[in-house]
Amino acid sequence: MRQKNISHLQPRPVVAVSGRPNVGKSTLFNRITRTKDALVDNFPGVTRDRHYGDASWNDRDFVLIDTGGMHFDKNDTFSESIFAQACRALEDADAVIHLLDGKAGLSPFDADIIRMLRQIQKPVFYAVNKVDGHGQEGRMDDFHTLGMDRLYPVSAEHGYGVHDLLDSLTAGFDETGETPGPDLQSDGTEIRRIAVAGRPNVGKSSLINRILGEDRLIVSDSPGTTRDSIDSLRRINKIPYLLVDTAGIRRKKKVSQKLEKFSVIKSLKSLDRCDIALIMIDASEGMTDQDVTVAGYAHDRGCGCVFLLNKWDKVEKDRHTLKKYYEEVKTAAKFLSFAPIMTISALTGLRALKIFPLVEEVYAQYSSRVGTGPLNRILGQAIEKNEPSLTRGRRIKFYYATQISSRPPLFVCFVNYPGAVHFSYKRYLMNQIRAGAGLDKTPIRLIFRQRPNRKRPRNPKLGGKPGRKS
Ligand code: GDP
Ligand code: GDP
Repeated sequence: MRQKNISHLQPRPVVAVSGRPNVGKSTLFNRITRTKDALVDNFPGVTRDRHYGDASWNDRDFVLIDTGGMHFDKNDTFSESIFAQACRALEDADAVIHLLDGKAGLSPFDADIIRMLRQIQKPVFYAVNKVDGHGQEGRMDDFHTLGMDRLYPVSAEHGYGVHDLLDSLTAGFDETGETPGPDLQSDGTEIRRIAVAGRPNVGKSSLINRILGEDRLIVSDSPGTTRDSIDSLRRINKIPYLLVDTAGIRRKKKVSQKLEKFSVIKSLKSLDRCDIALIMIDASEGMTDQDVTVAGYAHDRGCGCVFLLNKWDKVEKDRHTLKKYYEEVKTAAKFLSFAPIMTISALTGLRALKIFPLVEEVYAQYSSRVGTGPLNRILGQAIEKNEPSLTRGRRIKFYYATQISSRPPLFVCFVNYPGAVHFSYKRYLMNQIRAGAGLDKTPIRLIFRQRPNRKRPRNPKLGGKPGRKS
């Protein structure tokens, strides 16, 4: 059999926060995701709307989306049609928190919105925000007339009621276990998880069909049997590749939904499950804002990335064309400047299978481990060459660094004042690690931590680092 479908890692559930402007969506979003955002490597100089974030409650991880940032209309005016659009987007979420404004009271729109939400086949949790304490529960009274089974009083600003809401929300989610390691084939080879990402019409399904050959994936459309995500496994050069969420991409062919909207949630879900993202761009149209958005998601999810400039057959070329395109991609998506770029044609097959040797290069770096010795030598030399300047009058001392995980490589560096390391110096150190450890094609992460407490005596048996728990 050339290809088989296997179910894979469930994506983390996606929870959308909906509600009219000013009800407190972003305040709630910040409260729930705050502690988790620290690891996201904000790329300085690039401002992107960050309206989704990682969250965790009762050992259950999920992704939270603030639909305030999903409105396609940039101006703030609320209209039913915008909300209807947002509702369609909500279909891809696993659960919805709908916020109502307890301070402003019932709005004429609320009943309409709730009628729309009732058509969504997902659990919806209705919360009345701005109930800032027990004394204010009267703010819920009007909302009971809307007829929901349960209303949660919350204060996004002060935290009141948020625990109960999150308990109910996450009760239905599976507990998050250990971060799964790579899946192994029976011969011990790791399966590389690949997502083909991109806005509609860039050629995703053409590429997937080409990779998978003519063996069409059979997707049953009868109710109860369709799955959200069906992955396809294919060996190329004897290496197993799992193309995640191929069903969603291929299925639309049948239904011929050329009007398909770009789905933020679907993109996030597949990028959440992959090691390497193939970010497809329609070269005949050039790099658009939406392409940059997709690239931004892939970056935020920590995927290894390869840009594919598709439809190269359509592009009129001279000797400067390639360079011009590379520059365009690098400029628009500076935050992914390490991602290799390749021109292909999914239609003619030009270089379509050459993608995989490049994926292998990225994957090798993405899953690599740098020994503590070499890492500290690289950093030691980097610091010697270019000492950090005083930050807020403080001299930063670097103690030691170590890699704590891979896929992508995450390094922790122990210092005296973690908060005082300037982002430009952090960038410098990251570039030095890239150059010194041969990690020029993968995302890497570097975090600074306070050196463990020195007061605790060393444990001679462990020969351990000062302060390590014995
Ligand atoms: P969004 O437009 O739905 O994202 O709303 P925001 O989160 O920007 O909040 C709108 C306004 O409501 C801001 O001035 C917040 O400070 C305020 N607000 C949000 N949550 C609460 C709350 O729990 N209590 C009170 N009293 N005000 C809140
Ligand atoms: P998707 O929406 O990203 O899955 O895009 P499709 O694979 O459905 O492709 C959209 C359109 O672009 C179709 O008409 C394809 O035939 C066409 N297309 C895809 N790849 C290429 C290519 O490499 N060259 C040319 N000329 N057309 C392409």
